[in-house]
Formats: sequence, structure tokens, C-alpha cells
Amino acid sequence: MATHAFGPGRGVLALVDGETRRLTGAQRRRLADFAEAADCLVRATACLTEALAVEKRALAHSRKIFDRASEAARIGVWECALPDETLTWTDQVYAMFDLPRDAPLDRDRIVACYAPDSRAALAAARSRALAERGGFALDAEIVTVAGRHRWIRITAQVECEGAVPVRIFGMKQDITEEKLLADRTRYLAEFDAMTGLANRATFEARFSALDQAPAGRPPFGALLLIDLDGFKPVNDTLGHAAGDACLVEVAARLRQSCREGDLVARIGGDEFAILLTTSAPGIAEEVAARLIAALSRPMTWAGRIFTIGASIGIARTGGRSSADLFVAADTVLYKAKAEGRGRYRVAATPPCGPLPYASAS
Ligand code: GH3
Ligand code: MG
Repeated sequence: MATHAFGPGRGVLALVDGETRRLTGAQRRRLADFAEAADCLVRATACLTEALAVEKRALAHSRKIFDRASEAARIGVWECALPDETLTWTDQVYAMFDLPRDAPLDRDRIVACYAPDSRAALAAARSRALAERGGFALDAEIVTVAGRHRWIRITAQVECEGAVPVRIFGMKQDITEEKLLADRTRYLAEFDAMTGLANRATFEARFSALDQAPAGRPPFGALLLIDLDGFKPVNDTLGHAAGDACLVEVAARLRQSCREGDLVARIGGDEFAILLTTSAPGIAEEVAARLIAALSRPMTWAGRIFTIGASIGIARTGGRSSADLFVAADTVLYKAKAEGRGRYRVAATPPCGPLPYASAS
């Protein structure tokens, strides 16, 4: 056996033979060269291994940051190979659809998760993007495989080789919370949070449309202003929570007493307004009588029975401006209160006469 050490502490190159030999000087030199070459190889391999390990660590770090960022932003990346429509998703997209990470991705099954309107919108946007070699952005509603409703924002881009689309890819972001918040904000801008009736802003928008309407074609027929009678004592004797429950019950009774197209709004504490679609004679009075009867029925709260009432002022549009119409209805409401409550009064319709009110229940 002949040996030659290479690289301090790295190893020994050993030449093993069946019989004992004496190496010549030239053979020893060749062995030394060979050992040096082997040493270079070993060192190069070690360097490469180290470089690979560094790369791997950097990649793992980048991956971790990407995963954390996409998790925090609820964004995942998706890709659909064409023409076979094989899907590839990152973890976040699996999570959005409540699918386990190793679940097979069948495009038909995934498309079936989209709500019908969103599915149609997605199909249309995708076809257009493929035809135009472009992209699209779409907010879509899905029902996950676990049955949960979610909203996702999809962005997509078509990639071509030459003129042929080879894949469509993009991002999906879970926007459920953002969507719910936007819906809630929109709801609160239009509806009264406590009773669910239209709020004052919605009422004013519909009411002031009267001023823009063509002559002789008002957008509604009559305004009914309602103020509850004896509501304050409910608060004072049973407490504010009972007062709130009473307002919710009032809203339900008002809705039940009106027709589909009528606007029922809460415009103040215990003040409500109704825009009746019709101005036909007698209808507003009929509705008002029905409302007064409905609101006079006893109510129950926490086992306690109590009764309130309502006074109503009615004014038919009759060519008046919204401001004049409101004053007319408010004036006769005040009269109804002054004359004993639990009744309605109707403002005279111009040009019938100068009286602010005409009839009584
Ligand atoms: P009247 O017969 O003269 O109309 O008197 P009323 O007892 O109905 O009381 P009034 O209309 O003068 O006052 C309405 C009260 O409604 C005053 C206010 O404290 C109360 N209120 C206003 N908004 C709310 C609310 O959101 N919840 C509750 N519980 N009470 C409210
Ligand atoms: Mg009142």
C-alpha cells in the first residue's frame, strides 16, 4: 500500500495493491499529483455543497416570508395550464376553498363552488381575456367545500407562446371581511340600524326626487308623517331597552300595514314617514286608519304589557314642492296631536283652498 496525505486533516489517498511494491520517484510524484487533484475535487465538492446549503436556507427564508405575507394578506397564487386546464395553487388558495393541501384539483369541481352569478361572470371574463390575450379582475362569491360563504378577488393574466395561450395565472385574495364591512357600511348609510327601516337620508333622497319629477308625474302620491303617542313613558317606566324593542315592533307593524312599493322610513326618535305610491282619494286615509289601529294594539316586553298610539299627518303631492309638502303634513300632524292624539289629519291639496288641513278620523 502506498499513501499520500492531502489537505491538512482532510484525508489520505491510499493505493492498495495485492503485492508489495516499491514506487519509483516518478511514480511517487504521480501519486502526489493524483492526491492533489483528488484534494481539489473534494474541496470543490465541499464548496458546492456549502453554496447549495446557503441557497437552500435563503430559499427557505424567502418562502417563509412569502407564506407569511400571503397568509397575512390572504392572497394565494393560482395557475391553470392550457389547454388541459391543470390547476396549480399555493397553500392560501387551498385554504380559501377549505381544501386540504394535498386534495386533487379538478377544475369542474372548483368552478361548481362559485355562486351562479359569479360563475357566469367568471366564465365571461375568462373567455374575454383568452380571446384578447389579456387579463381580468373580478370579485366573486364562493361556497367552499366545507359550505362556508366567501368572497374572493381574482386577478388573472393570460400567457402566450407565440400567439397561443399556454396558461392563465394570477392571484386570489380572500376579501370576505372587506366585503361584509362594505355591505354593512352601505346598509348603515341607507337603513336605520335599530329598526331596519329606511333611514332619514334614504327618505330625503326619495322625497326630494319630487322636485325633479316632470309636472303631473310625481314619484309618489302622498306623504304620511307619523309620531308615536305616549312613547316617552315607555322609556321612563320600563327603561330604554323596552323603548328600543317598542320601536322595532312599531317598524314591523308599519311594514305590515303598507304595500311593497311604499317607502317606510324612520326619520327621527319616534317619528316615521311613509311615501305612498298612490294619491287616489281615500287610500291614504285608509292606510292611516289601519296604521293607527295596528299601533294601538298592546305590546309586550319582558312580560309587561303596555300600549302606545300614533298621530298622523297626511299630505298629497298635488303639485307642491317637497319642502311645502313636508310642512303641510307636519302642520296637520301637529293638529292631530293638539286635537287629542290617536287620529290623522289631511292637509288640503292645492288649489282646493288655503286651509292647511281638511278632514279627521
Ligand atoms: P307625544 O305623545 O307628545 O308624541 O310624546 P311622546 O311620549 O311620544 O314623546 P315624544 O314624542 O315627545 O318624545 C320621543 C321620545 O323618544 C324622546 C326620546 O327620549 C325617545 N327616543 C328617541 N329616540 C329613541 C331611541 O332610539 N330609543 C329609545 N328607547 N327612545 C328614543
Ligand atoms: Mg311622540
